[in-house]
Amino acid sequence: MARLANDCFANPSEMISAMEALEKISAAAATVVATENISLFDAEGRILAADITSPRNVPPADNSAVDGYAFRFEEYAKGPDKPRDVIGQSKAGHPWKGALTPNAVIQILTGAIMPEGLDTVAMTEDVSRQGKQVILPTGLKSGANCRKMAEDIREGKVLLEKGTRLRPQELGYLASVGLGSVKVFKRLKVALFSTGDELINPGETGSPTSIYDSNRLILASLLDNLGCSVTDLGILKDRLPIVRAALNEAAKDHDLVLTSGGVSMGDEDHVKTALSDIGHLHFWRIAIKPGRPLALGQIGNTAFVGLPGNPIAALVCTLMFVRPLIKILSGANMEPPLAFKVAADFIMKKKSGRTEWLRGRYYVTNDGTGRAEKYPTEGSGILSSAVWANGLIEIGDDVTYIDKGDLVTFLPFSELMR
Ligand code: AMP
Ligand code: MG
Repeated sequence: MARLANDCFANPSEMISAMEALEKISAAAATVVATENISLFDAEGRILAADITSPRNVPPADNSAVDGYAFRFEEYAKGPDKPRDVIGQSKAGHPWKGALTPNAVIQILTGAIMPEGLDTVAMTEDVSRQGKQVILPTGLKSGANCRKMAEDIREGKVLLEKGTRLRPQELGYLASVGLGSVKVFKRLKVALFSTGDELINPGETGSPTSIYDSNRLILASLLDNLGCSVTDLGILKDRLPIVRAALNEAAKDHDLVLTSGGVSMGDEDHVKTALSDIGHLHFWRIAIKPGRPLALGQIGNTAFVGLPGNPIAALVCTLMFVRPLIKILSGANMEPPLAFKVAADFIMKKKSGRTEWLRGRYYVTNDGTGRAEKYPTEGSGILSSAVWANGLIEIGDDVTYIDKGDLVTFLPFSELMR
């Protein structure tokens, strides 16, 4: 199995841009998961571990695209409108195998194999049938209504490349060439913790000022969408020995340990100290908002990310940096998430030299054009903003002012969360 290089997340020395951070993550990280063969029926969302070449042609033989009558074009061209004998039938799964006579036609159903020597099909509704004879329509082109052997896939073609995530259409594609199983990467094993003495689990009763742990719910479901196998390890108390032992233990049988909270400068932020005792931890200063240093590290060969405790900061950090890291560790091709330009429905001033991600809502106006509005307040603890939003608006480093109607980049959550 591949391993992370020792201390691969060592600090970039200066403040770096969001783009540089992503480049550094992709340079530092590598696929760490092993491979397995699984049934195609269980492969939705999984990542291919090898290129796949087609073992056969699709379609495997010329066949009819419609219900109709199959004939030889060369004979038809000599006298399109003369009556012809219907001498047999070809059905899907039951090809016609008799001998042909000149000018004869075969009644053929959709998907049925074209009888040897026939190359064109007239649709039933265009044909006039009189007893055992038909009159074909005029004006048909050679090969009409006939699907050619291998017109979709030729034997030997590379169908999908290593690193492809299997969506429903890819599963159908692989099924269409007859593959029953595929070699995929094992799911990335992620250990998930929250930290903080103030936190309790939803469903529990604490003190009136307890804070319910929302990060673990957000992160566990997000990781699940990203194809990880998540071990939910609950809430860690703010005590160094507890944090240190738990992280050390989790690192033994996981590929990635992910925590939220406990990485700021406060007295009770033990994650930092624990990591420097048992592994390495580095704080990358990235010019972003919502911003905080991103804590990246390693315990042995296990990757570690320490997210900020504030739910929005944790969410945005995960979507923009942890998601690509997870894709690389999992063996998936790293493509930027689909984004599109849309007119802003707001005015805002911004500091130059940093990327900002606003909670945004894309909507369509009465005249059918798209707009993006932003949530009115910016606090990184305000989860209502993410519930209101359907994506993030990305404002680039150099921008200092957005006017209504300016084009901004919109990243739908539907893209960022898978
Ligand atoms: P910290 O990063 O531990 O200093 O936490 C920053 C803020 O985020 C504090 O207000 C915490 O109460 C809050 N917080 C930390 N972890 C969570 C969590 N799992 N769920 C909800 N809020 C949290
Ligand atoms: Mg805390």
